This record gives sequence, structure tokens and C-alpha cells, in this order.
Amino acid sequence: VKKSEKPSREVKTVCPYCGVGCGIYLGIRGDRIVSARGDPENPVNNGRLCVKGRFALNFVKNVERLGKPLIREDGEFKEVEWDEAISFIADKLSKYTGDEFAAIASAKCTNEENYLLQKFTRTVMKSNNIDHCARLCHAPSLVALSESLGSGAMTNSINELKHSNCILAIGTNTTETHPVIAYKVIEAVKNGSKLIVVNPTRIELVRHADIYLRNKPGTDVPLIMGMCKAILDENLINYKFIKEKTEGFESFKKYLYDLKWDEIESVTGIPRDDIREAAILYASSPTASIIYAMGITQHVNGTDNVFALSNLALLTGNLGRANTGINPLRGQNNVQGASDMGALPDLYPGYQSIDDAREKFEKKWQCKLPREKGVILLEIFENACKGKIKALYIMGENPILSEPDIKNVKKALETIEFLIVQDIFPTETSKFADVILPACSFAEKDGTFTNTERRVQLIRSAVRPPEDAKPDWWIICKIAEKMGAPGFEFENPREIFDEIREVVPAYKGISYNRLENGGIQWPCKSREDPGTDFLYKDGFTVENGRAKFILPSFRLFETPDKDYPFILITGRSLYQYHTRTMTSKIKGLGEFKDWKFLEMNPIDGEKLGVREGDFVLVKSRRGVVKTRVKFNEALMEGVTFMSFHFAPVNRLTSSVRDPLSGMPALKVSCVDLIPQ
Ligand code: SF4
Repeated sequence: VKKSEKPSREVKTVCPYCGVGCGIYLGIRGDRIVSARGDPENPVNNGRLCVKGRFALNFVKNVERLGKPLIREDGEFKEVEWDEAISFIADKLSKYTGDEFAAIASAKCTNEENYLLQKFTRTVMKSNNIDHCARLCHAPSLVALSESLGSGAMTNSINELKHSNCILAIGTNTTETHPVIAYKVIEAVKNGSKLIVVNPTRIELVRHADIYLRNKPGTDVPLIMGMCKAILDENLINYKFIKEKTEGFESFKKYLYDLKWDEIESVTGIPRDDIREAAILYASSPTASIIYAMGITQHVNGTDNVFALSNLALLTGNLGRANTGINPLRGQNNVQGASDMGALPDLYPGYQSIDDAREKFEKKWQCKLPREKGVILLEIFENACKGKIKALYIMGENPILSEPDIKNVKKALETIEFLIVQDIFPTETSKFADVILPACSFAEKDGTFTNTERRVQLIRSAVRPPEDAKPDWWIICKIAEKMGAPGFEFENPREIFDEIREVVPAYKGISYNRLENGGIQWPCKSREDPGTDFLYKDGFTVENGRAKFILPSFRLFETPDKDYPFILITGRSLYQYHTRTMTSKIKGLGEFKDWKFLEMNPIDGEKLGVREGDFVLVKSRRGVVKTRVKFNEALMEGVTFMSFHFAPVNRLTSSVRDPLSGMPALKVSCVDLIPQ
């Protein structure tokens, strides 16, 4: 390392990429980030970082960063000072109220910022129309786990995986999407844990697995219910746990007896003996953990998939104990926190229902709050297309790439009367804005992120922001103040966090002073409470304290037919992140792995008469994308894959959704392939 590249100081903070939430030391020289190393004291990563955490942070100083507020005038953006931008926004927003307004919060922003945006939406704009990208990743986990167990979060901790006797990794390509958790799974296997992988694609983790079940895409409910049926047949259920801690077992038992093995085999494509072998391994292990991600949730029956997993854990008593549990791996760095902060249309901060807790929040916030439930993310765009939502405030999101069936999103953004986009870079979405506001990145502000295992951690300002960029919390406060709204007189994130502690019971015992010594996992109910490594030690947090068996239903969104004979799966890559707003600025990342291909099994390529590198048109019922072919033997015949980072992929996906959670069918669709 050249002397000029050696850090002269280090700042302890948290990686801004995925929900693992690795502790990081940024090496700073002058005002530049010149290095990054994993924090060896942080229990999440113990010094480890993946390629993004170690080498992909210098988007912070990229020349394309937004530095000045921009207002659209005669079709062109002109730079203005903050006073003018804030006055302009306050004046425009005062023309709208209630359901005419909506806001999209951000899993990339801090807890404090998400808290303030939902407070602004509810108290100033009198609307519950606030949502964020959890709708597109773990809304089914929130709905299903809240209903069956009491809380929508990971039940146990990342480090417990190392001590679990058996890990079931289902619908998660962990090495690509949560790399540091994958290290821990592999470490567990090396120390004697058994690993069951369930995935339509032969993913990297399969190399370490004791059992690999390759089910047809989207057939998780019959597969998991097959495991439950086998556990019942083998008499491996935990009767004591079921009797003392659950309800609904009798009807679940009948449901399992009625299932037909022939149907399970034909739907999943897996022989019953293989399902039975996996079930016996899971159920006979003294402790067993489930990890899952969007391969489970991004379906029209995503909530049912999670109900199925919850039933499996309940059947075997793998809840409420260390090294067990059901663990949704959250995608973005602060998606857990954005949900905790109430950036949801039906829940206030701390998952308190807008029906039950309205009076409490009216008292706290000293104002009348709207009664009607707000609309979910996709409905925001649908209502904008219909002219019902007229003003939209988007903080740190790029929906024109991230939502399904993007032609509708484009129409909504064109139709909307007043659009504010607040971000660190110009994005595909900001092209439609009336005002663009330059925000600070994770390295230029203080605050907290909550990682996938409910761990609240401090992030710290390390370098100066470009030009006049400001933290998102500051911008929201200024707009609210200009609109004459009380309750936004915060000087710093610590003060905002102090208010959060007052209204979110699970955060009550957490404070900035305590966080200086390391992260704390919620619930943390008092200053003396060390936080909670695993949930439900003292019983479930549903109303009567008994966890519920819930009968899952099964349906596929689309099945291959003569017009659309191939299945398309979408997914992520280790080397890119989300819509690439940040990773596209890192030279070299794209060279590790190109993300713009349609991947297919070479046998399908031969049948179609295409070779690697040839162009194909990928056509679904929603749209068409032209791209090159790459062969990948890990894919089943008849199944293709495109990366979510490849922008046009959401022209192909559908906005048809899970009725229970609003999750669209992002994971699997049917396509035709036309060689060019
Ligand atoms: Fe960052 Fe996630 Fe990689 Fe950790 S695993 S370094 S949090 S991207």
C-alpha cells in the first residue's frame, strides 16, 4: 500500500449493503475512504467481510453523487439552494392531503430517517400511505410469523447457526446473497452440523450439504408438508411441546393424513423417500434451524410458504430454544429497521396496529391521525395511475427498476402531479421527479441500522458529504418545519432515537450510550436488559401465548404451456446489489460476473439451437427483453434464470400478488425464448 493510500484514522460503522449487518472499520485518509476491514469484535462477522463490504464502498466519493437540490423548470433540472427547495416543496405539498399523498421509505436509510418519514406522512400529510421494499422481500414473513408465533423477525441469531445440529436452507442462495452467513453455515458443517439444502438450482451451498432436494420452482408448500407428513408417520413429533405451547394441532394432523404422497411427488418432482430422509434428519436432530429468503417469500402464496415452515418448526419443537428457530434472512441493510419503524400502511412503529394504537400515538404526537389503512407499495403506483395519489415522496428507492411489471410504474411516475426523489445518485426514477434532493450516504451521517437478527447497531459519520448533500432526517425535519408542523425539532439522530425508544416497546432499553459498546438485539425492554438472542424463551407473543398451526394453501402463479414453455427464476449476485445504484459505481465488480445474461441449462440451449453468447428474446405475458444466453448446468432443464440486477427483468415479472401480504410474483414466471 502506498503511503498516500494508508489510512490516518479509522471509523467504526456498519456495512451499508445486505441485512447481515457486518461491523466494519473504514480507513480514512484526508476525506477519503482508503480501506475497509471487518470489525473482529463484532459478533455478526467476527472480522469477516464479503467482496462488497471490503471493496465496494467507494461509491461514496463517486463524481456522479448529487450535491445540490434540483427543481424541474421547463423540462430541465436547475440547481437551487436548500431554502428555495424546501419552500417549493412545502408550498406544493400543502395543496395535497390524506390519500392524495404517499411516501416510499427506504431500507437503505437509518431507523431514525424511516421513523421520521412515516411520522411526517401520518402527522403532517394525514395519510397512512407509507410502505417500503419489505413488501417485495419479507412481507410474507411479517404476516405469517406474526400470526403463527407473534413476531415477524428472525427467531434466533446468526451465530447460533454454528451450534445447530441441523440447518435447513430453503429458498436461499446464501453464498450469493448473505455471504457472511454462508461462511457460518459452512463452518457449522465443518464442525459436524448436518445441512439440508432445498432449492430448484444446484447452488454453491449444495457442495456442503448432506441432503439436497431439488424441487420444481414454487413447490415449497407440498415439499414442506411432505416433510411434516413423514415426521408424523415416523412418530418424530414433539408431543410435549405441541401440548404445552401450541394450538391447532389436531386439524393440522388431519390435513397431513389427507395429503397424498403421489401428488407430493408429482408436484415437487422429488421421490417420497428423499423427502422422508430429509424430514427424519431435521426432526431427529436435537436442535434444528431453518434459514430462508426470497425463494420462499416472492410468490403469490409466499405467506403460505412461511406458514408451512412455521408448522415444521412447531411440529418438532424447534422454537424458543437456542440453536433452533425459523430465520428469514432479510435483504437490505436496514429492511428490518424500516419495518420496525412503522414504514408500513397498517402499522405504527413497533408493529402497533393503526386501529388499536391510534389514541396512544395521537397523544404522543399531539395531533389527529388518519383512521383509514394506507395502501401497499404496488397500490401506490396503481392509485397514482388512476389519479388518486397525486403527490409522492420517494426516499432512497428506485422503483422503476425494483417493482414488478415496470410499465405500470413508469405510467404512474408520468401521471403523478408532484414527485420528490431524495437519493445519493441520480437514478432511473429521479428522471421523473419534480424535485431531486441530495442525501448523505451511510458514511456521511450518524444513526442506527437494525440487521436481520434484530441487532440495532450504530453507524457513524466518517467523511464529508459532497457539496450541500444532507442527511435524510435533516431534510424531512426542514420540510415539516416549513409546513408549520410541530414534532420535528430534532438536532441530531440521537434525539430522534430517544423518541423511538418511547414509542417502540422492543427498543425501550436501547440507547446510543449503550450502542457505543456494541449492537443490541431487540426486544430490549429496560436499561438492564442485555437484549434477546432468541425469541419465545418464555412463551409465544401471540394473544393467548400459544403458537398456531396454520393450514397453508398451495397454488402456482403460472405453469409452463405451449406459448410460454420455460420457467424464469429471478435472483441476485454476490457482486452486485439491488438496482446497482451503488455497485455500478465500483469499477471491477462487473468483471467478476456479468449480470446481464439469461442463464439456461445447456441441454435447453441445444434444443433451442442457441449457443453461449447468442441473443434471445425472452417473452412473458407482461413484456419482452432481449439478452444473451449463458449456459449454467446448475439449472434444471426447462428452468432459466435472470439476475434482478439486470434492469429490464421486471418487464417480465407480474404484479399479481399474494392476497395475505401483497407480495407480487417476482420469483417465478413463465416465458418463451425466441432465438435471434
Ligand atoms: Fe456487507 Fe452483507 Fe457482505 Fe457483510 S455479508 S460485508 S453486510 S454485503
